[in-house]
Amino acid sequence: MINSHAHLDFNHIHTLAENSVAIVPSVGKQNWQQVQMYPYFALGIHPWSLESHTQQDLDALEYLIKCSNPIAIGECGLDFAKDIDKNKQLYIFECQLQLAETYKLPVIIHAVKATEEVILLLKKYPKVTGEIHGFSGSEVQANTLVNMGFYLGFGLQILNNKSLRLRKIAQNLALESLLIETDDHVNPNDLILVAENIAQLKQISVENLNKQCDNNAILLFGLQ
Ligand SMILES: [Zn+2]
Repeated sequence: MINSHAHLDFNHIHTLAENSVAIVPSVGKQNWQQVQMYPYFALGIHPWSLESHTQQDLDALEYLIKCSNPIAIGECGLDFAKDIDKNKQLYIFECQLQLAETYKLPVIIHAVKATEEVILLLKKYPKVTGEIHGFSGSEVQANTLVNMGFYLGFGLQILNNKSLRLRKIAQNLALESLLIETDDHVNPNDLILVAENIAQLKQISVENLNKQCDNNAILLFGLQ
């Protein structure tokens, strides 16, 4: 099983089961080195940590992308629920979209209370594709992103019966656009709970769901 988004280098996280694989995103210069321990890592600047980053760090990021072979740019994006300078968020995110375009890499996007702004920016970079991880937008936004070639990632939030909107979106989403993940949850093996839950929503077998989600991750991230 492929976990499309797991911060395995965070201290509180327990390791993955032997037979599963994870895409490990970074959050900024503080863990660009650590994530490189994992076979499938991504390099980027998360909106939560952008305040400690400068133009020099963006240059360093480009250098690392050129020479260390990440499978994606990320985690990057916009978070308008946090009190972080919006202009700086937009600037750093757009710089990373430019890197994605230049180096032909997918992006791993964090979008909280900013899905519309993310869509607007992505429209400027039609060649860029990727994953909106921990999707939290509307059904209309989900359809727009899917039509733009993006994949939507769902995590443990889907288990919450109160997440009615999210559950409906996952239920209606084409299997070809779906990814599963655990993000920063303690036990990355909870991935199976996410898979079982979505399979039940879609009334398909969990094997079928896993197979398709694995294929999606392989295709998007060019996994070998
Ligand atoms: Zn994350």
